[in-house]
Amino acid sequence: MSDRVAVVSGANRGLGLAIVRALAERGLRVVLTSRSRERGAEAASGLGAHGSAVAVHALDITDADSVAEFTSWLHVTFGRCDVLVNNAAIFIDGPQDGITADLDSVRVTLETNLLGAWQLTQALVPAMRAGRYGRIVNVSSSAGRLSTMRMGAPAYRISKTALNALTRMIADELRDDGILVNACCPGKVRTDMGGPAAPVSPEEAAVTPVWLATLPADGPTGKFYRDCREQEW
Ligand code: NAP
Repeated sequence: MSDRVAVVSGANRGLGLAIVRALAERGLRVVLTSRSRERGAEAASGLGAHGSAVAVHALDITDADSVAEFTSWLHVTFGRCDVLVNNAAIFIDGPQDGITADLDSVRVTLETNLLGAWQLTQALVPAMRAGRYGRIVNVSSSAGRLSTMRMGAPAYRISKTALNALTRMIADELRDDGILVNACCPGKVRTDMGGPAAPVSPEEAAVTPVWLATLPADGPTGKFYRDCREQEW
């Protein structure tokens, strides 16, 4: 894994930071991306021994210029991209359901959780195709599963359902390029999003996305996992 380059979005805190640490521990060169470069650098400074394997770069996944600048920098700096973890997301639903939903908050949520991840994926897949290798991990949520869909958090739920659909679609497209694409739910995680009472630590939650980010060539693609076990969509 030592020459592999992994990109993690939204990695200055929470699950993204735990994924960066775990990938660096496995010997990958990791790019910790953050909307704020300063917050990213601060987060990286707490990584200890593995911090030297981690580069920091600014990236706002909703900003096309930011994605283009990041992609150019990645090309010049590493000349490759092997792993993309689409981790960045927002959860801004108030107490609302589908009928009462503020559609502006739905639009803003889709801009980040769906279109941001999609835009970054489009930008980085050419480098994966060039290397005939890629692992794309879409950090989704059980809240987006159609098979168990319930009321509440409509913007967030729909955004993750759509991310799951994107996962299946591009997994099919990229199957013959050596690129495996999967989605996962990390569980309820003790982060700013999950809250302090959530049962799963960021380190525990990182296990499934890190496993998917380092799958062998005959690994699965187009699937949805939680605790490294396949889930119904
Ligand atoms: P978090 O603590 O709220 O962290 C979210 C990260 O995303 C932050 O680094 C944030 O950056 C970044 N971000 C938001 N918008 C961005 C943008 N436009 N461009 C780049 N980065 C952006 O959330 P988390 O709990 O670690 O969640 C990580 C992933 O797990 C998300 O996909 C989430 O949906 C999923 N998930 C979480 C839980 C849970 O219980 N926590 C459950 C199921 C799924 P800033 O610091 O700049 O805001």
